[in-house]
Amino acid sequence: MDEVSVEIFASGFGLLPFGGKTHCLMALVRARICRGFYNVCMTRPFDICIRGAGIVGRTLALHLAGTQLRVALIAPSATTTETTAASASDVRAYALSQLSRQLLESVRCWPDVQHATPVLAMQVHGDGDGKVAFNAADTSAEALNWIVDVPVLEARLAEAVRYQPLIEVMESPQPATLTVVCEGRASSTREEWGVQWDVTPYGQWALAARVQCANAHAQVARQWFSEGEILAFLPMDGPQGNLCAIVWSVSPERAQMLQGSSTDDFCEALELASHGVSGAVSLVSDRKVWSLQQAQARRWTGVAGQGAWVLAGDAAHNMHPLAGQGLNMGLADVAELVRALTERPYWRSVGDPKLLRQYERARKADLAVMGQANDALQQLFTNPHPALQAMRNWGMNRFESSGPIKQWVARRAMGTSGKPAIQGKKHS
Ligand SMILES: Cc1cc2nc3c(=O)[nH]c(=O)nc-3n(C[C@H](O)[C@H](O)[C@H](O)COP(=O)(O)OP(=O)(O)OC[C@H]3O[C@@H](n4cnc5c(N)ncnc54)[C@H](O)[C@@H]3O)c2cc1C
Repeated sequence: MDEVSVEIFASGFGLLPFGGKTHCLMALVRARICRGFYNVCMTRPFDICIRGAGIVGRTLALHLAGTQLRVALIAPSATTTETTAASASDVRAYALSQLSRQLLESVRCWPDVQHATPVLAMQVHGDGDGKVAFNAADTSAEALNWIVDVPVLEARLAEAVRYQPLIEVMESPQPATLTVVCEGRASSTREEWGVQWDVTPYGQWALAARVQCANAHAQVARQWFSEGEILAFLPMDGPQGNLCAIVWSVSPERAQMLQGSSTDDFCEALELASHGVSGAVSLVSDRKVWSLQQAQARRWTGVAGQGAWVLAGDAAHNMHPLAGQGLNMGLADVAELVRALTERPYWRSVGDPKLLRQYERARKADLAVMGQANDALQQLFTNPHPALQAMRNWGMNRFESSGPIKQWVARRAMGTSGKPAIQGKKHS
């Protein structure tokens, strides 16, 4: 570390008035102190090793480093190159809840309104006359959720990690009191440690893309359940925008057909499936596909070698994207783990099995509710039986007029019925 970077580093700790005029000798003395402090920090063993630098891994690293824990964030160059290229070209936008927003805001990574469009209304259409509508105006929240541009969010998190001196981004796993596995659904560490992974494929793929619409989206998210397929139009590019992220869950054969079709044919199919409500649409991105599955790890915590481990995010659970809850659940894992670690009694270590089992129990309980509701919706709407079709549309209309039940479901999906993201802690 040279003296200039030592000063920049120290100003990050609030130890020096960055940019101010400092006497040469004083600067040198301070630089020495800071170098000492830096060396002490950097020779201390790692408290936490996080394997996987996706949104869950980076958010967790920032929160834990904000509580003065020393974090190794593992991003092997092979996965980093893949991930950087994949995230820069990710066509998706995520529907994120109030809880996720709080968590990202507290590490200053929440994107500006142009890249986190507030959703004021949501319209869900069944495959008959069934219809359900949610409005932010009927709740006390400023928005039902926010549609967040994925590459923008990833870039913000990567930037924040670069400026956090207690996080070291490294190529290979490091010894630490606690290892958190955030490697996504194909986690090799989970497999290596023999954790049972229960998977049920949905027999559907999600096709995602971005489209420019003739009509402004007016901050309305729309979803159609039709003939076993699920199509979502999510508003992007700020309140005045007419850009939408689409997610279309269809059979693998149809996904391949839609992905390979001409742009004109694709847009025509999209306009038909969305009943022309957005006007003419034009494709402005690649079309990407993902196979869909419901999956959950049997164990979320254990001991390997000298340290304890836990799973978080997609490495612990996967769900269908129909309700836009996968990452919200992953960020709720982050919130719960940070809470468990920062509120621990001083005499318990961050690898204490009691704390980690507490985390596992709390997250599995939450996931049981959300995961099962999500799965039930998918099953209900992909079943072609005519009796079920009539029933689900009748059910949607009953639900629409159900008052308190509808409000409760809306609050759950919005993430406003649970605990606050992180209680009483403000991170740097
Ligand atoms: C089409 C679609 C739409 C979706 N929409 C929404 C939505 O609207 N709202 C929502 O909440 N969720 C949504 N999701 C779910 C969301 O994408 C995931 O839940 C989220 O990306 C999980 O984040 P993660 O960080 O756990 O895993 P990942 O994003 O998979 O990140 C894992 C990281 O670990 C790295 N890695 C892998 N192996 C290793 C290794 N051995 N060592 C080190 N690093 C490794 C990877 O390169 C990657 O960087 C959607 C999913 C799909 C498919």
